[in-house]
Amino acid sequence: MRYLGVFFFIAGLAVLCACGGLHSFSADIDQSNSSPGSHSIDVMAKEPPPARVRVAASTTTASPAGKLIALTFDDGPRPYVLFGSKGIHPAPGLVDVLDQNGVKATFFVVGWRLTPRTWGEPRHEENIGVSCIDAAEQLTRRGHELEDHTYSHLELRSAEKKNGEQWVMQDVDRGAQAIKAITHTQPRYVRPPDWIITNDARRDLEQQGYRVLTISSENPIALRDVNSLDYLCAGKNPTGCPKPSLADGVLKQLDQREKKGTYTHILAFHELSTTTAAMPRLISDLKARGYRFVTLTEYMKLVGAKPGETKQQASATREASVVALSR
Ligand SMILES: [Zn+2]
Repeated sequence: MRYLGVFFFIAGLAVLCACGGLHSFSADIDQSNSSPGSHSIDVMAKEPPPARVRVAASTTTASPAGKLIALTFDDGPRPYVLFGSKGIHPAPGLVDVLDQNGVKATFFVVGWRLTPRTWGEPRHEENIGVSCIDAAEQLTRRGHELEDHTYSHLELRSAEKKNGEQWVMQDVDRGAQAIKAITHTQPRYVRPPDWIITNDARRDLEQQGYRVLTISSENPIALRDVNSLDYLCAGKNPTGCPKPSLADGVLKQLDQREKKGTYTHILAFHELSTTTAAMPRLISDLKARGYRFVTLTEYMKLVGAKPGETKQQASATREASVVALSR
């Protein structure tokens, strides 16, 4: 089973490369930062939680904030995923699915897409006649949030090794400016491609007022992204997609977190058609478990205080950050 976990991990890297656009992958990825998904599957397969525990977990609210989900989607805007395809393989749009369910989500978009006359990657993405900028504007109008997934979508640790830390800071800022041109709001959250970034660059971004999302176990569990592994379900012959389904895989990960008393979760997905297809059932199952859907900004307001920080201190920190960013 351990080997299967490693296999999922390696397969994940391969597919992530394939769907990540202008993205190259470093082979020296930090194992501690990248294994939660496959590790969870490993543990769960050995020892499923007793039904009694699961019932208790789904009806108890340990967090004063209540049971919360922040749905997030990386790597877009991809118009054919957001608005659906009427072409050879008709599919519903992710935005319609979210709207029909009354869910506001957060999109970690890639800056290069937000340039004029960009419709996505011509080799892999269907052009439905909606530009990425138009798609981003629609997302904003419909109440969803845009946050920063860098401009280049290059893996930042390798890029830093090659070009220096200043390049990384500029890549994040350039992504933020592209978003700000559309939303007129400074993005505050950064998710580095594949969560890979050096500690120095992370610290410097945080000093500039960004909050860097992570899957590192050094952070409190409620502030750690849940890696949905949805990229393993994409493509013609997906291997490693959670069984029996993507939705079940995510729910199993939440079971594990609930067993630890965590009822607030940031779920990390990608803009993929296969992910859109999994959403209606996942959203209805989560609602049935008593979860409420919030944007990342709202989530962080409710559960985002750093360890040892009171809510007032957290709010003061946020205000200081906004001032730093608006300079
Ligand atoms: Zn990405």
